[in-house]
Amino acid sequence: MLLKSSTKRGSYITSRFDMNRTLYGPITQLLTMASLPDKGPIADAALEIIPDAALLVEGNRIVAVGMFAALKGAGDHIETTSPCVVMPGLIDTHTHLCFAGSRAGDYSARISGKTYQEILESGGGIMDTVQKTRACDGKMLVELLLQRLARHASEGVTTCEIKSGYGLSVEHELKILHAIGEAAELQPVSLVSTCLAAHITPPEFESPAMYLEHILAELLPIVSRESLAQRVDIFIEPSAFPAAIAASFLKRAMSMGFMATVHADQFTTGGSAVAIDVGAISADHLEASGDDDIKALAASSVTATVLPGASLGLGMHFAPARKILDYGCALVIASDWNPGSAPMGDLLMQASVLSAQQKLSNAETLSAVTFRAARALGLSDRGTLEAGKRADFIAFPVDDYREILYHQGKLKPSRVWIAGKEFSS
Ligand SMILES: [Zn+2]
Repeated sequence: MLLKSSTKRGSYITSRFDMNRTLYGPITQLLTMASLPDKGPIADAALEIIPDAALLVEGNRIVAVGMFAALKGAGDHIETTSPCVVMPGLIDTHTHLCFAGSRAGDYSARISGKTYQEILESGGGIMDTVQKTRACDGKMLVELLLQRLARHASEGVTTCEIKSGYGLSVEHELKILHAIGEAAELQPVSLVSTCLAAHITPPEFESPAMYLEHILAELLPIVSRESLAQRVDIFIEPSAFPAAIAASFLKRAMSMGFMATVHADQFTTGGSAVAIDVGAISADHLEASGDDDIKALAASSVTATVLPGASLGLGMHFAPARKILDYGCALVIASDWNPGSAPMGDLLMQASVLSAQQKLSNAETLSAVTFRAARALGLSDRGTLEAGKRADFIAFPVDDYREILYHQGKLKPSRVWIAGKEFSS
């Protein structure tokens, strides 16, 4: 069956008089990523792959997906695509893209064998980025964001989450969130902002608990009032914010209307349990998660997000993504693009490397950066190519979808469309 319903079939007849419908095709293979389970393992055989396909788009929405031969009369305009595989645009659910400065010095020290503590004592680490980001004016932060987002878009990322968290004061956290909001207006990648003021306690505060009180009293009411972010994040680690105070912080933020997401189980466990306890939308990192943590995540509605870019940047083991799927979680893969631990920021390459190391199928890996990622951001209008969804899609210049991961990230999309418009850098 090519068309989803008879009403859709009827709409094709009237579409001949509508000058805004573009038919993209013929497409060698179209991966819809539709009708797949939200959680647990997925075999490649479950993928819906339409050969000799076409995508009908009106404005920023997909109107129909099917065989080219069946749809070719439906568009007012046919945009011919050379032999290619088309799939939904990639969704990066966890980044720290809004920062100034480089931490190449830290990285060099780390690969030369210096410990985290030694780097911190020599003036490196997160506070270095905080100082540079505080010193950077809003206009320059927007400029830096635009450069990074342009690269992300050219690599197929059509929706991107961005956290604050290098300001660590009301003034500078607001400056960062404003910069994200401005960038959202100036370029096409769809942005989701998250307030991560609870990244680490700045030296101005005596204790993590006092700093969290400050965020709750002084910052979050403004973030909420000005709609600068709908989500709040916290870095749960004994060295950052211990689980006990993190849980009450998140509950109070949620009572103000924020969704919660958590940096969990990166070096020690405890964070994912907080995510489950408070009903967070996702628990991200999970390198240290044990069997019991993963089983508990699988029994909850919390998405399990892994960040292979941080493992690559820190030279540490990957999160147990295979086990996370086998135990029945919703697995999402995100880039964690940040200047300290994950400077690469190449989502497709990282997902490809993780899939090889963790033995993830094409279907599992691509789900983790498309429709499962959309769910981790609470977005129901994207992540699959189906009638009614946003027209976010990417084309690779190959004739078999398995080429995408096979090239381990070196094969980039040749064309990218965001909300129905082709992106060009
Ligand atoms: Zn992060």
